[in-house]
Amino acid sequence: MKFIRYSDSAGRISYGAEQASGPALRIDGDIFGDYKVTTAPADVKKLLAPLVPTQILGVGLNYRHHAQESGMKAPEIPVLFAKGVNTLQNPGDAIEIPTHLASAEVDYECELAVVIGRACKNVTKANALDYVLGLTCANDVSARDWQIKKGGGQWCRGKFFDTFCPLGPRLVTLDEVPGPNLLKIATHLNGETVQDWTTSDMIFDVATLIEFLSGSTTLVPGTVILTGTPHGVGMAAKPTPRWLKAGDEVTIEIEGIGRLTNRVTLEK
Ligand code: ZN
Repeated sequence: MKFIRYSDSAGRISYGAEQASGPALRIDGDIFGDYKVTTAPADVKKLLAPLVPTQILGVGLNYRHHAQESGMKAPEIPVLFAKGVNTLQNPGDAIEIPTHLASAEVDYECELAVVIGRACKNVTKANALDYVLGLTCANDVSARDWQIKKGGGQWCRGKFFDTFCPLGPRLVTLDEVPGPNLLKIATHLNGETVQDWTTSDMIFDVATLIEFLSGSTTLVPGTVILTGTPHGVGMAAKPTPRWLKAGDEVTIEIEGIGRLTNRVTLEK
């Protein structure tokens, strides 16, 4: 199944199911509970992020080559941080560079986002994927100045600003892809490909992350897990870092899921 979430011409918000051909069909109900795919075409006025997360968990330094470019040792235990649900942004809407808590070092990170469909706790790697509703693209936008120098020694401040977690364009169930760790993943900045790698480079694969994150911890339905970014972030660009600026357009692309595009503006 390929789920979308959208607002229609009357302003109502619904889920839809994309079809192999023809328009998406409207879904009645809740994709985290009972739902039915109707025969009515989805009246998509505006595409929204494919869910409203109940929480957003991030994992840092989870790709071997990215840990190297960051000058960090590959972690032995997953590095966990959180992003607020305030960070959610829709496909096509703007990433805002903070101006009140001003940042001069806003960066992109293409990430495979894993959406938990059923509550789980203390799961093992072997059955972890049973609790996954699907996958989508994420941009783990990060203000490096607030993440590293001004954030009190931990990452949350720099990753917690409004609009810093675009998700979309669709939520794809696992039966539609070869596997969560067998996907090409890329970032295109103003049309130039700046990250171009594969999810097979993850240090901790998706099943291992769910086993770890669910340890003594309930992962509630609607939990989004950001699984880390490959090398090629703007912070590590040579000879000088490549920070996002107003007017830029950034696209995250994952094989089998699609393209998530957002432009960049300044916080008003
Ligand atoms: Zn990240």
